[in-house]
Amino acid sequence: MDFDFPPEDDPRRLEVRAWIEANPKPSGRDLVAAGYVVPHWPEPYGLSADPMHQILIDDELRRANVRRPGNPIGIGWAGPTILLAGTEEQKERLLPGLLSAEDIYCQMFSEPDAGSDLANLSTRAVRDGDEYIVNGSKIWTSGGHYSKYGILIARTDPNVPKHKGISYFICPTDLPGLTMSPIVDMTTAYSFNETFFEDVRIPADMRIGEEGDGWRLAKVTLANERVSLSSAGSLWGAGPSAEKLLELVRDAGGIDDELLRQKAAALHTEAEVLRLNRLRTLSARLNGQTPGPEASIQKIMADEHGQHTMEFAKELCGTAGLIAGSGPPGELPLSMRSGATEVNFERDAFEDVDPIWHYGFLFSPALTLGGGTFAVQRNIVAEMVLGLNREPNLEKGMTWSEARRAFKA
Ligand SMILES: Cc1cc2nc3c(=O)[nH]c(=O)nc-3n(C[C@H](O)[C@H](O)[C@H](O)COP(=O)(O)OP(=O)(O)OC[C@H]3O[C@@H](n4cnc5c(N)ncnc54)[C@H](O)[C@@H]3O)c2cc1C
Repeated sequence: MDFDFPPEDDPRRLEVRAWIEANPKPSGRDLVAAGYVVPHWPEPYGLSADPMHQILIDDELRRANVRRPGNPIGIGWAGPTILLAGTEEQKERLLPGLLSAEDIYCQMFSEPDAGSDLANLSTRAVRDGDEYIVNGSKIWTSGGHYSKYGILIARTDPNVPKHKGISYFICPTDLPGLTMSPIVDMTTAYSFNETFFEDVRIPADMRIGEEGDGWRLAKVTLANERVSLSSAGSLWGAGPSAEKLLELVRDAGGIDDELLRQKAAALHTEAEVLRLNRLRTLSARLNGQTPGPEASIQKIMADEHGQHTMEFAKELCGTAGLIAGSGPPGELPLSMRSGATEVNFERDAFEDVDPIWHYGFLFSPALTLGGGTFAVQRNIVAEMVLGLNREPNLEKGMTWSEARRAFKA
């Protein structure tokens, strides 16, 4: 770690403290007005804060138990894209409600035939005067049922190369013709939806950027998504960390089983590597450098680490862990009850889920799929970081030997 934290009496720190003293229970709007929701953004939304200033603000808010508004897709992914490519009028209209979390956002990107190969999407948006008429369907729309807007990418021109015919919209979820049908996952939670568009009319002033520039903007959104999905803690930063699990183990008197002890040590090692890697990224940012390969590998490692954490939690319960609804009372505080009916990532979902470990175990396979699958992330590292050949465009239905020949060509 190649930096020192500023002292306790740093004037920027004292300024945040004074603000919190004057606003002990700030609303989302108060935090937006102070620039504390996205301090690194330019004014009037942020403070153009450098990385150290951001750390100080985070630190002080945490210390005072002040929570920022929860709207991860809105603030983390849609917001930077609107800031980059939206008109001044769009920014003024959309950003205050987005930042204060009065307007929750969801993401309408994936389609049944366009996941990893997102540019293959077929949802159509056809210009008609001041509107676009949208037809098609999206899938895995997390939180769509409680969102006000969706970030939507749709094909506006089918006659140009596929990456060039896509446009980016902010789509109100209450438009006539837009319907959602719930998808219940194996945790029993209803967290995502299939979204259908039947002649949905989106006002043209909800298009962000130029027509046909949607692929470039979608990549901005996805880059922000990957950074936020690799934050500390399991379950994309929303669940308990490996350290928390190991703390439970210590509080319960430790473990004697040799294999489990080795797994506990391996888990701790992984968590440490991830922590140090995060500090390297931070160190680069604080020293004015662009983070290198460590940022690219963080998501790959963090997702798999989340799975290992949840698997270990289950394993600690032995055979009792196989049965949802029973657990080892008195041994480890990991009772095994299922029963989540709805998970709302934006609103402290996990308070409703008892216990988190059982839920997390069932959810954790999704970690290496959402936000770009483990295989696709590895392809990105291979090409962009290691400088290896680009993978050839394999055609659907190819045999293994045809694929091998294509790779060699
Ligand atoms: C919990 C969760 C929440 C999600 N929320 C949203 C959301 O809110 N909005 C949204 O739009 N989407 C969402 N998604 C969808 C997610 O973005 C897609 O699942 C993901 O992009 C993968 O697409 P796919 O499911 O179509 O799988 P596919 O792309 O069909 O992949 C199938 C398999 O093939 C492998 N594969 C594909 N291409 C390659 C390649 N080139 N090289 C090697 N292997 C390859 C993959 O790794 C995978 O194992 C969510 C997914 C999850 C799991």
